[in-house]
Amino acid sequence: MNQIPFSRVVCDGHELDYVRAVLDSGWLTTASRTREFEERFAAAVGVPHACAVNSCTAALHLALEALGVGPGQKVFVPTMTFTASAEVIRYLGADPVFLDVEYGTCLLTPAILADAIQRHPSVRTLIVVHYGGQACDLRPGEPGGILDLCTRHGLRVVEDAAHAFPTRHRGRMVGGLGDVTCFSFYANKTITTGEGGMLTTNDAAIAQRARIMRLHGIDRDIWNRYTSPRPAWEYDVVAPGFKYNMPDINAAIGLAQLERAETMRLARQRCAQAYLEGLARVPGLDLPLLRVPPTDHAWHLFPVVLAPEAPLTRDRLIERLAERGIGTSVHYKPLHRMTYYRERYTLQPDDFPGAERVWQGCLSLPIYATLREDEIAYIVDQLRTLLREGAAA
Ligand SMILES: *Cc1c(COP(=O)(O)O)cnc(C)c1O
Repeated sequence: MNQIPFSRVVCDGHELDYVRAVLDSGWLTTASRTREFEERFAAAVGVPHACAVNSCTAALHLALEALGVGPGQKVFVPTMTFTASAEVIRYLGADPVFLDVEYGTCLLTPAILADAIQRHPSVRTLIVVHYGGQACDLRPGEPGGILDLCTRHGLRVVEDAAHAFPTRHRGRMVGGLGDVTCFSFYANKTITTGEGGMLTTNDAAIAQRARIMRLHGIDRDIWNRYTSPRPAWEYDVVAPGFKYNMPDINAAIGLAQLERAETMRLARQRCAQAYLEGLARVPGLDLPLLRVPPTDHAWHLFPVVLAPEAPLTRDRLIERLAERGIGTSVHYKPLHRMTYYRERYTLQPDDFPGAERVWQGCLSLPIYATLREDEIAYIVDQLRTLLREGAAA
């Protein structure tokens, strides 16, 4: 029987060589490799500033902090996301206002946002999530998109791009479209450093604040302390910062991954295209809605939704696939259903019809660069059989 895990880490490039060089250098924490990773990543997404950190969660926290989010404020965030997107709002004593998403893409839309702005005119910050690797309809520099709405109503925009590298949007890379963008290099993301994240921005003041706050609020980083003519022991503390810096060991892995980011993206795109063809017109199964050219999509996830009339439930389908050696996952049980948020903000499922419809039937299929054609054919075959035979299978 096939054994196809939901996710496989692909480290078949220069990872080991670059990590060995770091170990040989004797300097393991944040220094020249991290700086180089920042420079290369900034060039890859086309922004002047990139700040490497130890997680996307840290990047999101720093982004909101740099924008001045604080107690008593509210921040818009979609409900169809990982808890990190919303917990960082609570770190700063502010409160999330959860938004529904469009069925099919799981993305926030201009229409949903426009309605939310009407109901909550005091909100000044929006977090968008490029779910699965497809960019939201930000439409920079054009009327009618999310950024235009935000400009007109005085909202700052933080992009949770944990799924969205490399993702294109109208000829530009995700990374410099909103005010701040946050990427994840967690082990199962599109590129990895083991654990890690990156904050990117076009705004020099945001970048400067994030750099200071990522390392204890010290006015100069460790590398600068050992390379500048100012004495190494001399530094000032200008704020109660955090400990969010990325070590050089992790940056070394990131540099090797970055070299193959587009190759791996293309391999995932081929997986997605094979699924889209193989699973087209399977009764009871809704495929992800593509609103962009396939080349613009990072293809981090391949989520499908089981229709209510399908012959077996989502939970049963996940079990049956697992018995056949196929690993799957669920993205996501929406945040309005999580105890902490549900109870604190008395949230009702009826207020999130798009997300609810996804949640009732969603599961994510394996998608990664080393997933083979014959493995995809096997997954497609098993899904077709199970959906034909239903609970009897
Ligand atoms: C993975 C993920 C995060 C958190 O990333 P870390 O690097 O693990 O902190 C945040 N948001 C979304 C949507 C994610 O999928």
